[in-house]
Amino acid sequence: MDRSLTDAAESRQELEAMIDSMQDAVIAVDAAGRIQWTNQRMQKLIPGMSFSNAVRVGHALVQTIRDPDVLDCMRVALEQRVVSERRSTSLLPGKIFEIAASPMPGGGAVAVLHDITRIEQVERTQRDFVANVSHELRTPLTSITGYVETLLDHEQELSPQAREFLTTIHKNATRMNRLTEDLLVMARVESSEQELHPVSLRADMLVRDAVQAMSGMVQDEEAVLEIGETVPDEVMADQDAAVQVLSNLIENAIKYGRHPTKGRSRVIVSAHSQENFVEFRVQDFGPGIASEHLQRIFERFYRVDKARSRESGGTGLGLAIARHVIEGQGGAIRVDSELNVGSTFIFTLPRVLSRAD
Ligand code: ADP
Repeated sequence: MDRSLTDAAESRQELEAMIDSMQDAVIAVDAAGRIQWTNQRMQKLIPGMSFSNAVRVGHALVQTIRDPDVLDCMRVALEQRVVSERRSTSLLPGKIFEIAASPMPGGGAVAVLHDITRIEQVERTQRDFVANVSHELRTPLTSITGYVETLLDHEQELSPQAREFLTTIHKNATRMNRLTEDLLVMARVESSEQELHPVSLRADMLVRDAVQAMSGMVQDEEAVLEIGETVPDEVMADQDAAVQVLSNLIENAIKYGRHPTKGRSRVIVSAHSQENFVEFRVQDFGPGIASEHLQRIFERFYRVDKARSRESGGTGLGLAIARHVIEGQGGAIRVDSELNVGSTFIFTLPRVLSRAD
């Protein structure tokens, strides 16, 4: 019995030493929200957390930590008995923490605070760099495109070779223009600088607006663009952003969804009602996408067929932007695809619940 007790005490000490040496701050509370235990990192983090090096065991968490995100996260873990995650920016000035609180089997909860300030800084620097470079490239690119266009206007004075070279320069300058524009949009949506103004919008109207916006391309490509089943349900979304995502998916479906034998694209856009969401679908009957690409297609610069995408003016950023915009509005985006049958891009937006719901 004595030995068992010593063993138990030793393993408890070992465990405490391990948790004490962690880089993350850990704090445990009982079912009533009183501090039970903290590791050294936590004590260093919060002035007043330790009182002459003794942990303020028994004190209410709310008296020690004022940050609403930490308290809210802990409250959810305690009351709802589920793992809860938050981001806190006001615990310590200038510091950003990722908090994960989990319920403990015997009541109470434990929270781990991970300092992500440096990661966030590096990400912000990268984003700013990309945005600055794209911005700086705009002016020289506009100038190149402008001069080449002027030269091409005097086509009759040019030798066939000069015309061919100028046309190539024009094509590439236009492509770079598109890339810098897409990179700027990406940097803006990633930094949440592009302010979204969600309002209540009718799903069928969104589909109609996007289809109308694409009518020029439909004519140029001789594609068939149809509106399938739609619902008049209202969704919460930023109108410009939602139409932009739908148009982008329709553009991709026309570009990449050409029927293998008929050579033309047929695209059906529809909107379906679900419990808390409206599901928008853009379906094509093209060659489809092989399953190994499906997971990665929403990543930045990921293209299934690089040469083909480049030829059609693609930058590989369209779907990455779409994912950001949709997730930023509380929705999700995915794709179902079968080789030689076609692809369906599906995204959801939160539905405005009416009284009848
Ligand atoms: P891009 O600018 O190249 O069009 P996107 O991010 O919009 O970039 O798309 C990424 C890649 O996904 C494309 O290069 C293409 O290979 C593939 N893709 C997108 N939509 C479809 C589709 N409807 N059918 C087949 N492939 C598609």
